[in-house]
Amino acid sequence: MKALVKFAPGDGNLDILDVEEPVCGDRGVKVEIAFCGVCGTDLHVMHDTFRNYPPVILGHEMAGTVVEIGREVRGVNIGDRATVLGATAVTCGVCRYCREGRFIFCPARRGMGHGVNGAFARYVVVRPDQLYRIPDHFTLEEAAISEPFAAAVQAVTEVTQVRIGETALVSGPGPIGLLCLKLLLAEGVKTIVAGAGGDDLRLAAAREFGAALTVNTAERNLADAVREATDGAGVDVALECAGHPASVLGCLQALRPMGRYTQVAICGRDINFPIDQIFYKQLTVSGSVCYTARTWERMMQIYQQGRVRLHDLVSVKLPITEWRAAFELCADRKALKVLMHP
Ligand SMILES: [Zn+2]
Ligand SMILES: [Zn+2]
Repeated sequence: MKALVKFAPGDGNLDILDVEEPVCGDRGVKVEIAFCGVCGTDLHVMHDTFRNYPPVILGHEMAGTVVEIGREVRGVNIGDRATVLGATAVTCGVCRYCREGRFIFCPARRGMGHGVNGAFARYVVVRPDQLYRIPDHFTLEEAAISEPFAAAVQAVTEVTQVRIGETALVSGPGPIGLLCLKLLLAEGVKTIVAGAGGDDLRLAAAREFGAALTVNTAERNLADAVREATDGAGVDVALECAGHPASVLGCLQALRPMGRYTQVAICGRDINFPIDQIFYKQLTVSGSVCYTARTWERMMQIYQQGRVRLHDLVSVKLPITEWRAAFELCADRKALKVLMHP
């Protein structure tokens, strides 16, 4: 089968190669991939700025249909439509974090798409516990956004614990920021979305989804806009989804005293910010990295209830052979979410 493979360490070294189809085995489930999302992590793997283990097939945001089931597998059927929790592909199972269900911190962990083979290919083979069946009303396009959506579910509902009646700032209107926005709106939270120059398409989407206000910080001072929108009070919660120093500062300034700040994006470098803001406003600062299996269960219940839909986030679908164009769209912020298919 054709697959997008990081074939050697270093910058680049990525191409479509012919590889062996994965073998199902007695305990595996073979999934035919319908769609797999392109994500910033893929760009980092390409540039070798995110840990990876070549040769490895990229792609970790996948959805597809079960086409083969190992002899020892129960509870899975041919034809099941599912998304896959790729992050647990390899874990030690016995460290403190594995035992606590916080597999993301397992020192031995390797996720699909960088640690082991991922889903920019026709087939993947996974364990049945990695498989999450999607409801009939959900499309495979939407289901391919599950992995980033799970990160948003953890950030909004588990780490930040927003409550109806609060006001939120989402700084950074990339896919994760827009997914946070959808959850905040579903929770009844008035949400301001901030972006930078070049984010016009994504800010327009934020308005369409229901943001109370969008601010392009290239044109308008964020602190002023927030002050005006909150009668001078400031926001209750700020989710930093851009990974940019100006966005970090914007979040700290926008928060009211006793507000909650959650770091959702990676900055990828050391930055300067006024830590005294945390002191003087007595802010609660948290990080949110990925999710747990419990988050995925919660996400499946959100899907079942049908109040949050994700189809309007998919703006481009390309075959994996056009991965260069897909990666470029992602890097240039010229699309909402880009999916690839075999
Ligand atoms: Zn991702
Ligand atoms: Zn472990």
